[in-house]
Amino acid sequence: MKSKKKESVLQVKLRASLTYRITLNVGILFFSAGLLLLCLFIGVRLGTVSRGYRELAMDYCNALESETIDREQVEAECKAFVVVTEETGEVIYQIGREPERLHLGKWYFTSPKERFELYVKFRLPVVLSGTECHGEAVFDCTEQWQQIREELLRMMLWYLVISFVAVFVCYVSVRAVFRPVDEMAIQVSRLNLQNIHKERLNVEGSKNELKTLASVINEMLDRMEQAYEAQKQFVSEASHELRTPITVLQGYSSMLKRWGAEDKEVLAESVDAIESEAKSMQELVEKLLFLSRHERRKLPFAKEWFDMGDVVAELEKEMIYLSESRNMKCELCESVRVYGDKQALKQAIRVFLDNAVKYTKEGDTVSLSCKNRNGSCEIIVEDTGLGMRKEDLEGIFGRFFRADTVRGKNIEGHGLGLSIARLIIDGHAGKISVRTQYTRGSCFTITIPRQRGV
Ligand code: ADP
Repeated sequence: MKSKKKESVLQVKLRASLTYRITLNVGILFFSAGLLLLCLFIGVRLGTVSRGYRELAMDYCNALESETIDREQVEAECKAFVVVTEETGEVIYQIGREPERLHLGKWYFTSPKERFELYVKFRLPVVLSGTECHGEAVFDCTEQWQQIREELLRMMLWYLVISFVAVFVCYVSVRAVFRPVDEMAIQVSRLNLQNIHKERLNVEGSKNELKTLASVINEMLDRMEQAYEAQKQFVSEASHELRTPITVLQGYSSMLKRWGAEDKEVLAESVDAIESEAKSMQELVEKLLFLSRHERRKLPFAKEWFDMGDVVAELEKEMIYLSESRNMKCELCESVRVYGDKQALKQAIRVFLDNAVKYTKEGDTVSLSCKNRNGSCEIIVEDTGLGMRKEDLEGIFGRFFRADTVRGKNIEGHGLGLSIARLIIDGHAGKISVRTQYTRGSCFTITIPRQRGV
């Protein structure tokens, strides 16, 4: 309950932070674009004003050169017009009083303490009676600046309104886009192991990428459900397998409690049974541990180059010693170099040999061979025993699978040997193929490729 609450707070935070971040980014974008536009506007407007005054200044210079200058008109139009010789700097013509800060540059404002004024100044070449001079014209643009400022304020106001509307629309639409994600988050947060089989995300309402996301999550949930079901089945089958030896142990121990001490026969039988059941339980537990460790990839294979022919020869000797009642044959035992985990592969081949012995009767033949086939190693374990039905073949590599034909026969086994063998062979990029005929025997062919690094 607590974690559920934590999750939903997290979702809300996530969604909120995404919505706000996108809205903030859009806001910043609008603000920067607006600032740029306003600067552009000021530049363009001041440029127009400056161009107009420059033409006027040029007119004054031309009129002065042709001696047609109208002093009164110039006085009325500009703040100051001064002509100075290039050589001596002597003022030879002056209208109005040049502002003190005339030398400052093209544009300048009066200090903020005084009345706000903006001036523009031009410096142009003039030739008067053969003397090279320059004219400096200063114009007062305060009025034009006031106009530009008013327009600027109006624009800024409109821009602010538009920006607010745009950011609000953006916020609303981003929220709308994230609503299905929100619903998905709520649905996913409701999922647990009890309802994983019935709860799925609703794909119908969502669109495009979200629909794909929902389908991908649903597929992942399907896979998780399958894995969970497989795990559950594995645990229940493992417990089932353990229950039988435990019941037997309990039965014999209570028998011992009642009569064991006095009755020597009962005592011997019980001790034998307890020993055999304990051994069977140990085998089962080891197999379960092996499967679970390998499944979590906790046991990496220790691979090296070795001769499979030697391993097969060792296994043959072992088998002859352990099952004297079977006719053991090693038809071919070639020396084949294999790159793999020697002990693990030996364990896998032992499973096929154990089965061949288990599912045959006295006098039947079990043959083993190892040969080099186009660089790969081929190991064949064949028997003339019970064989399998076609319908059983599909399941033999599954966990806890035992064919109905062997179940009633009092043959030891938990149905885990072949799954372990397949796990090992798969870990070496190998293949297993089976040929079998019910009541006639079976033939398992294991092929391990020779290449390194698999
Ligand atoms: P276990 O032998 O312990 O039952 P395995 O995983 O080794 O488990 O084998 C699974 C099943 O495959 C066996 O129960 C048996 O029905 C069938 N099987 C395997 N090998 C043979 C064989 N050589 N002959 C007949 N049946 C076999």
